[in-house]
Amino acid sequence: MNFLDSELIFIPLGGSGEIGMNANLYHYQSDWLMIDLGISFSDETTPGVDIILPDIRFAEEQKANIKAIILTHAHEDHFGAIPYLWEKLNVPIYGTAFTIALLKRKLEEAKISENIPLNVIDYNVDYKFGAFTVEFVTLSHSIPDPAAIVLKTDKGQILHTGDWKFDETPMVGNKTDIEKLKLIGDEGVIALIGDSTNALVNGRTPSECVAREGLTKVIAKSRFTVAVTCFASNIARLSSIISAANENNRHVCVVGRALHRSIAAARETGYLENAPDFVSEVDAGLLPRQNLVIICTGSQGEPRAALAKISNGMHENIKLQAEDTVIFSSRQIPGNENAIARVQNQFLRQKINIITDEDAMVHVSGHPARDELIDLYNIIRPKIAIPVHGTARHLDAHAKLAASCQVPEILIPENGNIISLKNNTIKVVDNITVSQFTQGSGSIIDLQSDMLRSRRQMLWNGSVSVSVLLDQMGSLMQAPTVTQDGVCMGEEESDYLADISLLVDTQLENTNKNLLNDDNAVQTLIIGKVKSATKSRFRIRPKVHAHIIRIAG
Ligand SMILES: [Zn+2]
Repeated sequence: MNFLDSELIFIPLGGSGEIGMNANLYHYQSDWLMIDLGISFSDETTPGVDIILPDIRFAEEQKANIKAIILTHAHEDHFGAIPYLWEKLNVPIYGTAFTIALLKRKLEEAKISENIPLNVIDYNVDYKFGAFTVEFVTLSHSIPDPAAIVLKTDKGQILHTGDWKFDETPMVGNKTDIEKLKLIGDEGVIALIGDSTNALVNGRTPSECVAREGLTKVIAKSRFTVAVTCFASNIARLSSIISAANENNRHVCVVGRALHRSIAAARETGYLENAPDFVSEVDAGLLPRQNLVIICTGSQGEPRAALAKISNGMHENIKLQAEDTVIFSSRQIPGNENAIARVQNQFLRQKINIITDEDAMVHVSGHPARDELIDLYNIIRPKIAIPVHGTARHLDAHAKLAASCQVPEILIPENGNIISLKNNTIKVVDNITVSQFTQGSGSIIDLQSDMLRSRRQMLWNGSVSVSVLLDQMGSLMQAPTVTQDGVCMGEEESDYLADISLLVDTQLENTNKNLLNDDNAVQTLIIGKVKSATKSRFRIRPKVHAHIIRIAG
């Protein structure tokens, strides 16, 4: 595409129109930068799929000119696709100390760490990547070391916020560097490209210290063992839970691999240094119940995580009893409501108390609510606003808020838009097709591939197999054999299989013999007839297989 040659271009590949899977490209002169490469998680629309990966086929075409993948922070929706997709791009990765420390551990666990160049970037230092100069700005969020990225070019600068909030008392890590943001605003900003997660939430997001107080109060009121689940990478929250446990004379036991990984990365980068020693899972059972807090993974109801195993009594070391308390110190990611409810119901059946952020202030968000967004626009005063990181509703609310802040040009982007920022104006100049991918059996698969379409079709509609035995003349040698899965059962099944066998038999009897010599034509005929007969009988469209077997004679 020739128009790319010298223009300042922004291309969201993921995260625009959805929460999750953030992946963005910036282009200037002949150079490209990728900011973030995240995943999102599957829901009931993607059966048999664990994670969803962004479509980086366009980025692969540009990989010779991609100078770096720059990570804003170490949340899965911003860096989770690196283990699966980095190989396709093969460019150096840059991020803050905690981001790189956690990524390194993830890559080591996935046994793919050897050749990936990981580089730590400091805040407030200029780094040159081809036509771009990049500077990280300190923010607060729900993970250590998040960064906003200032992309400087000879045409002006762009502020890519990543995830952020204003928090005067973040408990771990630094406050958002408002003085630096003011300086950037005074220098002039072409475009602010930023977080829309809480654009529908009025007011301000409470500080982490509010969650710390809430947790301390809830634990004080709890008579027996308290288990708290939160995102493993939320080190400030872990610090708050540890502090709340200490205040209440309780020891802390940490359960779940992701938590141990995050805590190791935190300690390596200077966080949680003063935390007391944890008790082991085995020793936890020896402590009096009123002296124990368990921190565990699984806040989203993940069936393989510690909390789900504890809820159904399958955890090898940790058991909860009636009158213990489980605190969900986390938000529900949309799509996970049912999985979370399943775990909560298991606990409630055992008379174990459940506390969520609806019952007490045991969680605060890491994203800016509307008054914080307004403050940021007043500080930065960009010429252009591009809301990203949100569903259509979030982006729309963010865009309207930017308009109320007198931002002259605003665009709600869609994944795959090629957006020109030339001359301080904004224009979608072209589009690239973006799909969604997943990984399976060691390869990356399009969610719209025939294989996954078939899987969904069979899950929702069942499957029918028809085998016909034909001689060389196209005559049936015996009645067609029919089997089915998930279409019907009991007496209905034997009626249905007999009817389908008869239907196929009759169709083949009445079909021109020339056509019957063509296996593909016979298959198409059988599949069409079986589908329509099944649809009119059960109102479903099963996956139909037709096997044609020819014998001599
Ligand atoms: Zn985040």
